Amino acid sequence: MAKLFWRYGAMAAGKTLALLGVAHNYERLGRSVLIYTAQLDHRYGEGVVGTRLGLQRPARTFAPDTVFDAVDMPTDTACILFDEAQFLNRRQVSELHRLAVLHGFPVICYGLRSDFRGEAFEGAAALATLADQVEELKTVCRCGRKASFNIRVDAQGLRIKEGEQVSIGGDASYVAACPHQFYTDRCKD
Ligand SMILES: [Zn+2]
Repeated sequence: MAKLFWRYGAMAAGKTLALLGVAHNYERLGRSVLIYTAQLDHRYGEGVVGTRLGLQRPARTFAPDTVFDAVDMPTDTACILFDEAQFLNRRQVSELHRLAVLHGFPVICYGLRSDFRGEAFEGAAALATLADQVEELKTVCRCGRKASFNIRVDAQGLRIKEGEQVSIGGDASYVAACPHQFYTDRCKD
């Protein structure tokens, strides 16, 4: 039975790099993969999966109304990969689980678990509930401890605690933080 995989991590945990590595490994063996990313993520251009290291490649995009149906998947697809999977909704995660379990397409989803307020993204909550296998991709805070949260900062590096869950682009950016920093704005001494 194929599985739905949920591989989550904070900012800069190497999620996209891991995705591109999986794609490369399949393609090296002559197998084809489908790569999806969120339509709202235009950091590297629409329909492009990119990393801070400069690697990038084109991808299909998904929006809240995208439907994932086995008839739309090329039959030679060896694996379906999702970047920014936190932006999937509950229905879409259920559809992807069915693609894996009922139609034999392995689906690997990479994304953030929680937003800058410490609340679950809809896709992350659904993936945590339905995925057959869950794995955390670890990254470190500036203090060297594990970073499991994301904080939003403005162009001056000052923390922003209010606002919409989704704000890609603009002046705000996201930084991975340890739990102590998330709650107190300071890392533990
Ligand atoms: Zn820290």
